[in-house]
Amino acid sequence: MRMNAGPVVKDVVLVGAGHAHVAVLRNFGMTPLPGVRLTLITREVDTPYSGMLPGHIAGHYAADEIHIDTGPLARFAGARLYQDEVVGLDVAGRRVICRDRPPVPYDIVSLDIGSRPNTADIPGAAEHALPVKPIDGFLPRFAALRARVLAGTSRHVLLVGAGAGGVELLLATEHRLRREVADPAALRFTLVAGSGGVLPGFPAALRARFRAVLAARGIAVEAGARVAAVEAGAITLSDGRRIAADEILWTTQAAPAAWLAETGLALDERGFLRVDAMLRATGREDVFAAGDTIAFDPAPIPRSGVYAVRAGPVLADNIRATLTGGALRPYRPQRDALYLISTGDPHAVGTRNGLVLGGRWVWRWKDWIDRRFMRRFRDLPAMPGAASGPAAGPASPLADKAALRDISAIAMRCGGCGAKVGATVLSRALGAIAPFPRPEVLVGLAAPDDAAVVDTGGPRLSVQTVDYFRAIVDDPWRFGMIAANHALGDIYAMGGEPQTALAIATVPYGLEAKVEADLSAMMDGANAVLREAGCALVGGHTSEGAELSLGFAVNGLVARDAFLRKGGLRPGDALVLTKPIGTGTLLAADMRGLARARWVQAAIRHMCVSNRRAAEVLAHHDVSAATDVTGFGLLGHLVEMTRASEVDARLILDRIPVLDGARESVGRGVFSSLQPQNVRLRRAVRDLDRAQALSDYPLLFDPQTAGGLLASVPAARAEACIAALHEAGYAAASVIGHVLARSDALEPIVLVPSEPAARPAAREAVPA
Ligand SMILES: Cc1cc2nc3c(=O)[nH]c(=O)nc-3n(C[C@H](O)[C@H](O)[C@H](O)COP(=O)(O)OP(=O)(O)OC[C@H]3O[C@@H](n4cnc5c(N)ncnc54)[C@H](O)[C@@H]3O)c2cc1C
Repeated sequence: MRMNAGPVVKDVVLVGAGHAHVAVLRNFGMTPLPGVRLTLITREVDTPYSGMLPGHIAGHYAADEIHIDTGPLARFAGARLYQDEVVGLDVAGRRVICRDRPPVPYDIVSLDIGSRPNTADIPGAAEHALPVKPIDGFLPRFAALRARVLAGTSRHVLLVGAGAGGVELLLATEHRLRREVADPAALRFTLVAGSGGVLPGFPAALRARFRAVLAARGIAVEAGARVAAVEAGAITLSDGRRIAADEILWTTQAAPAAWLAETGLALDERGFLRVDAMLRATGREDVFAAGDTIAFDPAPIPRSGVYAVRAGPVLADNIRATLTGGALRPYRPQRDALYLISTGDPHAVGTRNGLVLGGRWVWRWKDWIDRRFMRRFRDLPAMPGAASGPAAGPASPLADKAALRDISAIAMRCGGCGAKVGATVLSRALGAIAPFPRPEVLVGLAAPDDAAVVDTGGPRLSVQTVDYFRAIVDDPWRFGMIAANHALGDIYAMGGEPQTALAIATVPYGLEAKVEADLSAMMDGANAVLREAGCALVGGHTSEGAELSLGFAVNGLVARDAFLRKGGLRPGDALVLTKPIGTGTLLAADMRGLARARWVQAAIRHMCVSNRRAAEVLAHHDVSAATDVTGFGLLGHLVEMTRASEVDARLILDRIPVLDGARESVGRGVFSSLQPQNVRLRRAVRDLDRAQALSDYPLLFDPQTAGGLLASVPAARAEACIAALHEAGYAAASVIGHVLARSDALEPIVLVPSEPAARPAAREAVPA
């Protein structure tokens, strides 16, 4: 988890990972500001660089080459990364309103959310045209378009909008598709240019050049009239002409996000956010913005990535200056930007100050500029300790001196805290004590299981468990969900139903408002999970400490004859795992800035999936033993089960579902700090030398947080059980091995790389 070393004094929330904000993140990573916490909220964690999009469509770049991965960048900046869509801004309450998560408080907010093609004004456009933005929505749809063209069901591709983006995109599409189909001459392409013609606003020489390129490539240009309506498979122009097409792409004039209109901020007549020369929303000192989403008050500027990129350093400096009480500087957009427009093949034509140059070398030049830009956000300099930065103190440059005085007082209070008791120490200490032997304790320390079981005299038995750990992700809301799921997992593993929970929380020392915001978000996430489980949160205890931590003491109920033990494995049964493994290595890689944001976000989503429905499905399929896979890793928990059941087990490595990125992370030698402890259990593996050479072997020891259930079900019911688990949303659930009768061998676990039998395999999927 990325934590500021000191208390947070100011929260800066960046909305959207647009071209300006990536520069702000890099800037704060290079020069952290003590006491300032950055949070990036973005809909897509892989943010596309539009300059390379046509090159990707044309087939010159892979998808990862044209995206900036916000995970390592946010880590570099010491920023929290929240993947969500912002749907509003409570300017009076200084809160960002998100689609999924609770509002995120800010001291300063900055918007760099881009724009989208305007489909609202043309009847039918929103329903029947494919907008190019947001680009990440466009890419899968373009892949579907391409598949239709390759299958021969689409032949005529029409693009509306003849600005630089539209022209480049259609040329790239034509280049790609004509090379891929068997009969290139059968394809038709049309550019609908409107009354301004091709590339309006550009020098005449450039426009003439592109008209010639389009003609040479057999792309029809329809100019002189605007699109009046769109229907399925056709457009109608304002002069009455109707043009039929199989595919209609849309890249017309940009439109702003609709929710800006609800914020009360000053907007221009088209709904873009008005900003002053310092990139502040008109009349506000706490709201900044840059990129396509702004209407720049001093003078109109084009909506182009170049201007968003150039605004980035000014935006960073002005946010910093506002926090430190320094002088802000104006953004001075360049009068004439260099435009390099590619023709797909790969050639490009460039223009600046009226000069026009073209050729293959211009493409190479553009490619060099674009790759250099991407490297700035990919090859981040090693900055030891940069992300955490020194704690804010009285000498801090922050302008809010009252808050800094409060922080100094807190710093004195928290000296010397944070001592922890190690797991080995704990088990030794517990081994030395003799708990009072109450007859009601059916499962306790004498034969520990996932949870204790106590006979309270009622019709059902009481299942009791406690879990507590420090924040493993830097998002308190998600962490609350994960902690609750982790604690409930023990109840489900015992076949129980959660009833009540008591929370134990530690919050870091800090300003009251900041502490309250984190605690509220964390408890909001936790309570959502508990509510969904039908588990009442009935109380708890909160204290201050060095790190954000959360745990739950959970009580559950289980029918007297239905509680599951680890010792219930039956030879011949199938071993079922309900969730993929790999959270330990991925979280470790994330801490080191080595994990892709999409891997980490997917792992977080998996940790937020409850085991409740899985437990129900297992119960319907005659489950005889279960455990939740957590800190000891898959192998450690399986060994606990085989020992208690006095059986052996075979694991089939290629059946074990693994989170995206976990193999890459292990391949780079990145492991959780618990891994070495877990690896000691390798002595339970038969034929170790051979087993160690198998791929995925290290992942067996990877400690899991809020992992899935490992359970045994009769082999005859395994297929139906897996189908039901998939149906219930556990898309990665898989039969990962079998229970064997106990052999003479000392080692109970046999590892095999694969097994040919036709059993349902794990499907690769991530919960929404
Ligand atoms: C085909 C095409 C080619 C282009 N080529 C070029 C070019 O070569 N050079 C050039 O200068 N310009 C080019 N442009 C224009 C360029 O795309 C835009 O001007 C530029 O992307 C604007 O950058 P931005 O920072 O404003 O926003 P964007 O780059 O669009 O980034 C917006 C970010 O905000 C996030 N976001 C959006 N809404 C929300 C929300 N509600 N909540 C949370 N996150 C949100 C998105 O996920 C994204 O990360 C091209 C455009 C197109 C369509």
